Amino acid sequence: MIVITGATGQLGSGVIENLIQKGYDPSNIIALARSEEKAQSLKAKGVQINIGDYNDYSSLVEAFKEADKLLFISSNEMENRAEQQVSTVKAAAEAGVQHIFYTSIQRKSDMPDSPINFVTNSHIATEKAIYESGMNYTLLRNNLYMDILPWVLGENVAETGVFYPANDGQIAYALRSDMAEATANILMSENHENKEYNLSNSANFSFGMVADHLSDLFGKKVNYVNPNADVYKETMLNAGAAPMVVEMLAGFAQGAAQGEFEAGKSDLAKLLGRDAVTYKEFLNGMYATR
Ligand code: NAP
Repeated sequence: MIVITGATGQLGSGVIENLIQKGYDPSNIIALARSEEKAQSLKAKGVQINIGDYNDYSSLVEAFKEADKLLFISSNEMENRAEQQVSTVKAAAEAGVQHIFYTSIQRKSDMPDSPINFVTNSHIATEKAIYESGMNYTLLRNNLYMDILPWVLGENVAETGVFYPANDGQIAYALRSDMAEATANILMSENHENKEYNLSNSANFSFGMVADHLSDLFGKKVNYVNPNADVYKETMLNAGAAPMVVEMLAGFAQGAAQGEFEAGKSDLAKLLGRDAVTYKEFLNGMYATR
C-alpha cells in the first residue's frame, strides 16, 4: 500500500494520476487529505482516503498505519513547516512505515547564509529527521517548478521585458508534471532505498536565454532587465505585489544568481525514460499563439 500526502495538491494529484495511468491499482493507494470534501475526485478514482493533518500527530500515525511506502510531499505552509514536517516523519516511523519518499529541494548549499535558506531550512531539518528515523528513505530533490516562469515574467512580458534580478545565473527548473511522472515511476519500481535524486532539467538556462527565446516567439526584441534586488522589490511592491511574494521571488532570484538551481547531476530524464520538457518547449506552449 502506498500512502501519499499532499494528495489534494497539484504534485500529489499528478503522482496519483500517473500511477493509475501506468496501471497501478488505485485500491492500493491511500491519499492523505485534510477533509473528505477535498478528496472527492480522488475517491471517485477508487483511491482510499485517510484523513490527517501535519499539525495533528495522532491523525498521521493512524493514517500511515497501512503504508508500505509513504510519499511525503512537503507542506506548503511556510511558517511552521520544519516543525510540521519533522513531526510527520516521526509519525511515519511510529506507524511502522518501511520506506519514506520525501519531496525535498535541489540546492547547492546547506549553509544558513544561503539566499534560499528561507525555504531550504525546513527541508534540511526534515532530511535530518529522516536520516535519524531508521526508515528506508528516498530523497527527491526537486528543482523549482518551471511552471512559475509565467508568474515571474508577468502578464506584459512582451512590453516590460524580463525584469528579474538573477544576473546570468544558470537554472534548471523542470515542469511539475515531469516531476510527478518521475515520482510515480520511482514508486512503481524497486531499488530506491537510501538514494537521493535530483529532479532538475538536464540543461541549464538563464533568464537572458528566456528573453532571447521570447524575442523569437514574439518576433520582436524582448530585453532582459537585471535590476538590483532593491529596485526589483520596490518596483514589484509599487505594482501591487504582496510583500511576502516579492521577498520570495527576490530570494529565488538571488539563489539563481548564485547557482543554487544549476543542473549539476540530474536524475530526472533517467527516471522519466525520456528528456524532460525544456524551457523552450514550455515557452512555446505558453506563448507561441500570441
Ligand atoms: P500545492 O498544490 O499547494 O499542494 C500542497 C498540498 O499540501 C495540498 O494537498 C495541501 O492540502 C497539503 N497540505 C498543506 N498543509 C497541510 C497540512 N497541515 N496537513 C496536511 N496536508 C497539508 O503544492 P504542489 O504544487 O503540489 O507542490 C507540492 C509541495 O512542493 C508544496 O507543498 C511545497 O512544499 C513545494 N513547492 C515546491 C515548489 C517548487 O518550485 N519546487 C513550488 C511550490 C511549492 P489541502 O488541499 O488541504 O490544502
